[in-house]
Amino acid sequence: MPPQTKQLMNIYNRLYKAFGSRNWWPADTAEEVIFGAILTQNITWKNVEQAIGALKEQGKLSFKAIANMDEQTLATIIRPARFLNQKARALKTFADYFGNNYRFSIKNMKKRELWALRKELLGLYRIGPETADSILLYALEKPIFVIDVYTKRIFSRHGFLNMEDPYEAYQNFFMQNLPRETGLYNEYHALLVHLGNQYCKPKPLCGSCPLRTLGTINN
Ligand code: SF4
Repeated sequence: MPPQTKQLMNIYNRLYKAFGSRNWWPADTAEEVIFGAILTQNITWKNVEQAIGALKEQGKLSFKAIANMDEQTLATIIRPARFLNQKARALKTFADYFGNNYRFSIKNMKKRELWALRKELLGLYRIGPETADSILLYALEKPIFVIDVYTKRIFSRHGFLNMEDPYEAYQNFFMQNLPRETGLYNEYHALLVHLGNQYCKPKPLCGSCPLRTLGTINN
């Protein structure tokens, strides 16, 4: 096994042993994952849950329903999500794309090749790499590694890359050194989010962290 693969699997195993399976993504359906991935930009998960709860309550948690709704009404329903007009527009844009290209079928969308699909998603309003990859991995079960600020913080503190390195550099690092497995990528990213949330904060809690003996800690 190449040394970097060994290191990455060692980190994964330590985190899995410490935290167990994270059962991601927290949603009942693939469409709900996409709603969450779009709504979560710049807000807490609690706000996302409230916005999704409001959509559910009104029977509007489907992109078919969103496609038939005007932006203003949608913005009113998702009020807990903040940046309402932008997020309402992002949901509407995705709904139109999903309907026009895949007839509102996750099954149809899954048939499309990973990188072609990613390119399409990145062309949509307010869908950047992290949102696109979250949709691809957690809603469409495609083997792509999601990068977020926690991943950057953890791996730069341990000297693998620099915090300023671009999204793609981090993604390549994981995807070139780990087997292309959806299940592994799903769990690994979820474990890193938990680690970042609980220990690798702006002021890190290294003393009790499962990675405390890993070496090289740059604060
Ligand atoms: S040991 Fe410290 S720097 Fe490393 S992941 Fe844990 S909290 Fe972050």
